[in-house]
Amino acid sequence: MNHPDPKPVATTVAHLNGEWKPLSDCSVPINTHALQYGTGAFEGIRGYWDGTRINILFLREHFQRLHRNAKMLLMEPPTAEAMGAIAVDLVRRNAPRTNVYLRPLVYKKGTTLGPVLVNVPDGFLAYLQPLGDYLDTSKGLSVCVSSWRRLPDNSIPTRTKATAGYLNSALAKSEAVMNGYDEAIFLNDRGQVCEGSAENIFLIRDGVLSTPDRTADILEGITRKAILMLAADLGIPFVERAVARTELYSSDEIFLVGTGCQVSYVRSVDKRVVGDGSRGPITAKLQKAYEDAVYGRDPRYAGWLTAV
Ligand code: PMP
Repeated sequence: MNHPDPKPVATTVAHLNGEWKPLSDCSVPINTHALQYGTGAFEGIRGYWDGTRINILFLREHFQRLHRNAKMLLMEPPTAEAMGAIAVDLVRRNAPRTNVYLRPLVYKKGTTLGPVLVNVPDGFLAYLQPLGDYLDTSKGLSVCVSSWRRLPDNSIPTRTKATAGYLNSALAKSEAVMNGYDEAIFLNDRGQVCEGSAENIFLIRDGVLSTPDRTADILEGITRKAILMLAADLGIPFVERAVARTELYSSDEIFLVGTGCQVSYVRSVDKRVVGDGSRGPITAKLQKAYEDAVYGRDPRYAGWLTAV
């Protein structure tokens, strides 16, 4: 379990279009294109405090994804290497002594009127904040299938991690929370299981791990990929495939993964208890392997981490 950082967030130093300033001094004009139309692409990156340093998890992978996504959205981001160097600098300048979450954003900083992506200047910013558990990883989550459908890839591609797409997530998460659940599970427009509001989903039936494939309108999560690597290394059989809604009600184990939630097990879906409601053995194995890797306790995965 992590401890909240006592340092107020406003005193952290942030990066805004080439300048380093206190977070509280970073502001954008009210007619900024990204504010008006949701024209941005972002990342969420964790840095784990191991007692002596911050280990940034999957630094290169996150900025490669951001670079690719921003280009898909007709933006001209800095190179992945340049953005990665700013992220390292961000950690160095703030020298946090707790787990942190880094938020880089490529966005349309111009003030052009009208929803268009071309000929609008781009900006880049990055800040960080302390972050313990995003969802409670110990207790088991109570989730619901959302009445909101996931955005189709041909509308606003979830794959791009576009800021606009998070309205879809926010609607589903809000509905879930208002109805007393911890998290929402989206179906896509084909009615298949897709992902959580900010997490990918895995389920286990008869010893086999399944997760929706990359054409299911999901974000191609970096944690998802890491879990598949760990499953392969642990000899756990897995398959990426279309998942039906009712499989959620007949699974032995279900868990959500993401940079924020890490590995969080699901206790119930739509009030139907998963297995016996406790963390299952395969989930526990993968959760431990993941935690050992991100805290630098397993040298086999040292390549996942960038020490600062
Ligand atoms: N799906 C969505 C919609 C997300 O926002 C996130 C969080 N980035 C994830 C899945 C998990 O992705 P990652 O493991 O790359 O954080």
